[in-house]
Amino acid sequence: MANTIISVRNLVKNYGSFQAVKGISFEVNEGEIFGLLGPNGAGKSTTLEIIETLRIKTGGEVMVDGLNLDKEPNEIKKIIGVQLQASGYYPGLNLVQLIQLFCGLYNRHVNAMELLEMVNLKEKAKSKVKELSGGQKQRFSVAITLINQPRIIFLDEPTTGLDPQARRSLWELIKQIRERGTTVIITTHYMDEAEYLCDRVAIIDAGKIIALDSPDKLIDDLIAKGFERRREMKLANLEDVFINLTGHSLREE
Ligand code: ADP
Ligand code: MG
Repeated sequence: MANTIISVRNLVKNYGSFQAVKGISFEVNEGEIFGLLGPNGAGKSTTLEIIETLRIKTGGEVMVDGLNLDKEPNEIKKIIGVQLQASGYYPGLNLVQLIQLFCGLYNRHVNAMELLEMVNLKEKAKSKVKELSGGQKQRFSVAITLINQPRIIFLDEPTTGLDPQARRSLWELIKQIRERGTTVIITTHYMDEAEYLCDRVAIIDAGKIIALDSPDKLIDDLIAKGFERRREMKLANLEDVFINLTGHSLREE
């Protein structure tokens, strides 16, 4: 049996008179990639930021690795890695200096070049964040989440706006992080991404969870209800054509 590392019970978030999260419950297993899927405005970021201790909830209970969010938020902060937006980094520092800065903040020793190598950014060690491409910025921000050696990392739409090569490169990085034993929670509105990456997904719409299971189980359930695609599946799609013509290698120099 998988261990539960996050448990969310009847979570509610009101913004004034508007209820953005309407009493959702779910559990995340240790070591899995768990996806929160949903259209814009569904409440994904709100839910994530509450668990990350960055937003105050209106109601409900959240436990992270046995720690109660209401009682021990600072202990929770120590075991999680949260992705920052590119604009959140000191503009004057290069990648190595930023890593060293975060090591200081977290009181951790990390080999900056090894970390950059892991996210395929060794050649950019002396660059500033603003000089990176979109995909490089995202890989760097994922690297930063790893500095405090977290048990869980949170990624909020990490691939939005990336080209297909950069997206696939980030997918491989996320899988690699999970293989090291880190639990990953990711939000996305790309269903191909969720199907490829996530062990289990919760589909959120208008503040409610409307389905929760593995992608395969959700697809099987739909088929069992008699669903059929109107046209026979093509053996490839336009993205396959694009990747086949332009290759998997990153284009960001
Ligand atoms: P998602 O990440 O799924 O796109 P969000 O969690 O960002 O959704 O937002 C859920 C709903 O709450 C949206 O209708 C959004 O407009 C609203 N909302 C988010 N943040 C605030 C805020 N700080 N004040 C008021 N409404 C907000
Ligand atoms: Mg969001």
